[in-house]
Order: sequence, then structure tokens, then C-alpha cells
Amino acid sequence: MKKQIFNFAFISVLLFAFIQNGFSQEKKLPKVIILATGGTIAGSGESSTGSSYTSGKVTIESMIDAVPNIRKLADLSGEQISNVGSQDMSVKIWLDLANRINELLAGDVDGIVITHGTDTQEETAYFLNLVVKSNKPVVLTGSMRPSTALSAEGPLNLYNAVAVAASPESKDHGVMVVMNDKIFGAHSVTKMNTTNVETFEAPMHGQLGDVNFGEVTFYHYPHGLNTTKSRFSADGIKSLPRVDIVYGCADMSPDLIDIMVKAGAKGIVVAGVGDGNMTTATLEAAKRATEKGIPVVRSARVPTGAVLIHGEVDDEKYGTIASDELNPQKARILLMLALQQDKNRTREELQQLFIDY
Ligand code: ASP
Repeated sequence: MKKQIFNFAFISVLLFAFIQNGFSQEKKLPKVIILATGGTIAGSGESSTGSSYTSGKVTIESMIDAVPNIRKLADLSGEQISNVGSQDMSVKIWLDLANRINELLAGDVDGIVITHGTDTQEETAYFLNLVVKSNKPVVLTGSMRPSTALSAEGPLNLYNAVAVAASPESKDHGVMVVMNDKIFGAHSVTKMNTTNVETFEAPMHGQLGDVNFGEVTFYHYPHGLNTTKSRFSADGIKSLPRVDIVYGCADMSPDLIDIMVKAGAKGIVVAGVGDGNMTTATLEAAKRATEKGIPVVRSARVPTGAVLIHGEVDDEKYGTIASDELNPQKARILLMLALQQDKNRTREELQQLFIDY
């Protein structure tokens, strides 16, 4: 009899432990934090069919509440970092974001989602790709239609972004952009359409994967060094040196570069014609700048293809640097971080960074 009671007690304890464990496993969702910065995803307009609206009106709590079942994907919480249209994104917000992300990911947080306007989303993604110090997923998302629009796509983009941030498969992919069911790497993603929901593309390397109603599939790893392999850091930085972009065209005036130098630019990026070309007079202005120790990077206004070192321009003669695959807005970010870290890097050292990152 004693033995039977003992067996019964033993089995009960086992059963209790099993049920407890089962429940706690069910409860243990990945911890994801949403950092909200504004943009059209948080935008609101008077009419559901009108095209005018204001970015950055809706708070992160209302955005989460608008997405059915999102709390089943992750143990979620939100923080409001800013509430601006991303045309007003700033170095100060980038640094705040980077420091907060590094702090959260060093703890028990499994992934980060950033809600962000689409205009400069690729720039924030690329900046973070260079200064986040973790291989855990960091995912930016946004929307092309404001929250009040007919067929607003923000809720599904947010749902999919949380699914990617919560997925263990997403580690080691650097900073990502999730929009319109696609996953992109920060190095290669760019905005291609002013208004369409299919705006983001990665013309040089393609998307990293797909996400369909929360089902995550990866095909590729991203191009270029990122996050834990990056030599750059946002730690202790209060500002970045001024780097300006000048847009190339036929009969381009050379004095634009001289004006930027006079205005205090510490570096210049030319969105050149073709393979990073510019008028002969502008090349001479670039030489004047590089002789003063102000690096000039030749990027391109053409959306695809790498700018080749010594293509039609003798980079050694003019002291210029080819941007390789970085578009002008991303070349600017790499140059700002490179100059912030060491303003005495040689032209050759800077050139190597454009090849590596
Ligand atoms: N101007 C908006 C922004 O970048 C556009 C958008 O989010 O789609 O904040």
C-alpha cells in the first residue's frame, strides 16, 4: 500500500512538472522591442482615399493595437524614439537609435523592429548596419500608405517585421528592411518608386528572403561587412563630420564643389553621371578639394552597377575614391563614419573601406 502511495505521489510530481514545463514553454515567446521613429506608417490623413496626410502622428501603442495576432509572434513592447517624417531623420536620431539598440541587444532582447518613414529608410538601415554590435536581428519597416488610407499596408508590414525579428533564422543577416513581403539587406536596398507599395528593391544583389503572413524564408546572406564584423561604432559619438552630396548632370558647374568646401564640408560625394563621371571642370574642382585633404567620392546617379576604380577617371591623378556599389546617400554615411573615426586616413585606405563595406 505504502509503495502504491509512493508511486502515485511520484507520478503526480512528474505530471505536474511536465504540465508546468509545457505551459512555460508555450509562454516563452522571443522578446522583441519596437522602436518607433515616425513616417507614413504612423501617418494620418483626413480622407481614406485622398493623397495628402501628415507623417508621424500615431503612437507605437496604437500601431501595435491595430495589428491582429501580433502579440502571438513575440513578447512585444514599444518605445517612441521620435515621431518624424523620415525626410527629417537626423544624425542625432541615428545615434540615439544605435545606442538604444546596442543596449537592448546586449541584454535579454532577441530582436528589434524599427518603424520608420520610407524616404530615408535605406540610410538609417545602412548606418545601423555599420554600428550595431550584435548578430541578433534588427529590422526596419514602414509603409507607403498612411494608417488612415484604404488598403493601408502598414499593419501587415509591421506583423511581418516582428515575425522576422522574432525568428532565430534571422541572426547573422545584418540590419534588414522588411516591406511588402520581402526581406532586404541594408547594403543593397533602395527606394525605387515615389508612391507604390512595391517601392523597395535591391537591384544589385536581390532580396535576402520572403515573409508571407509571418512565414520567414531566407535565400541569401547580405553583401558587405556589417554589425559584429564592422569596425565602426556609435559609442560615445555626439556628431558626425559634415559630408555633402552634389548631383551630376550635363554641363555641371564646378563651383558647387568649391562652395561646399567653403561651407565647411569635410568630405564630398558626387552623384556622378554614368560610371561616376563629371565634367572636366568639376574633376578639377574635385582635385582642388582633395589637395586640401577633403576626400571626394565618385558615386553615381545611375541606380545599378558599381563605380569602377580608374574607370574613365584617373582616381590617382584627381585624388578621388570610387564608391564601388554604394549609392550616393550610403557613400555619404560610410565617409562620415570613416572620417569621424580617423580623419587622417589615406585615399587608399578610404578606397579599401568602400570595397569592404
Ligand atoms: N515622407 C514619408 C517618410 O519618409 C514617406 C513614407 O514614410 O513613406 O517619413
